[in-house]
Amino acid sequence: MPNRLIRDGILDSDRYWSVSMEARQMYFHMLLLADDYGCISVSPVFLRRRCFNDSPSHERIAKLLNELQDVDLIRLYDQDRSCYAFIPRFRQKLQRATLKHPCPPPNLLEGDDDARAKFDKQRKVEKGEDIFHFGGQWEALKQAVFARDGHKCVRCGSQENLHGHHIVPKSKGGESTEKNVTTLCEQCNVWARNNDERCLQIKQIVEKTASGKNMDSIPVDARHISEEKRREEKRREENLMPRGARLTADWSPEESVKFWASQKRPDLNIEETIEEFRDYWLAKPGKDGTKLDWNLTFKTWVRNARAKATVSATPQWWTSESATLAYGASKGMHPRPGEEMSQYRDRLRRVA
Ligand SMILES: [Zn+2]
Repeated sequence: MPNRLIRDGILDSDRYWSVSMEARQMYFHMLLLADDYGCISVSPVFLRRRCFNDSPSHERIAKLLNELQDVDLIRLYDQDRSCYAFIPRFRQKLQRATLKHPCPPPNLLEGDDDARAKFDKQRKVEKGEDIFHFGGQWEALKQAVFARDGHKCVRCGSQENLHGHHIVPKSKGGESTEKNVTTLCEQCNVWARNNDERCLQIKQIVEKTASGKNMDSIPVDARHISEEKRREEKRREENLMPRGARLTADWSPEESVKFWASQKRPDLNIEETIEEFRDYWLAKPGKDGTKLDWNLTFKTWVRNARAKATVSATPQWWTSESATLAYGASKGMHPRPGEEMSQYRDRLRRVA
């Protein structure tokens, strides 16, 4: 449930003070429970559960509702055999794009221009004529507009930081429809923003381009077809490009490559290296596991192969005191007077 903005003007309202305290209290609870449009179900079960801490009778609830209706704090209406209330002068910021409750009949919105504008907009959204600027709808519309405009600013052709620009500004009643939105880059968007003359220039650019391309005369389906065609062409291009192949389980480098490897890296066991190479690339999933030339890949592998650590028969220099002293002597470093063996070893490690 979104937060409600309750204005202190209510404390200066004669309507508000003219009803009983119990009615005022229920009214307050209704303000908190109504949807963004000011509509709320007034089924006794719902009101009793949410507005009271005792269990008032149907009659008592009906009396309070009538009290509020009499001073125009609420306006009751029926829809599909359920009863609802519309709260005039509700003036909340819309957070939902959809009504929670059925729309009140138009005569109920009399004298409440804010509510009327919101419901009109809602009706347009339902008919697909306009969209709200929250949720994914604006994003989706923008993407459709960018695609139509070739992902380019219509003014300067830049492809960076694209914005959806209202040709007729929203402040002048311009709607968020594909027809009224065009693609501008950030700079051009800032340039045109809140400037009637510049907006007009953008409008002229759009009209010029539209008359050239005559987008309106191309049915939407056809636009999709051309998009599909473009994708197909791209696929065909990709097919013409040389494509890699996966390594086969019985792969072995050419004899010349084997010979090259044995010359290049006499320290490696070539047969073992081939086996490691095969295991590695056979296990590699997807596109990464395909190569254009496996002999070349193998050569790179051999070049980068790490030298096998030679297992020494002699114990490591840090494992015994005598080995450490011998190692230190070979480096020309001797223990200092009073130096512990561990400190001496640390010093040797630092130069190793
Ligand atoms: Zn631009």
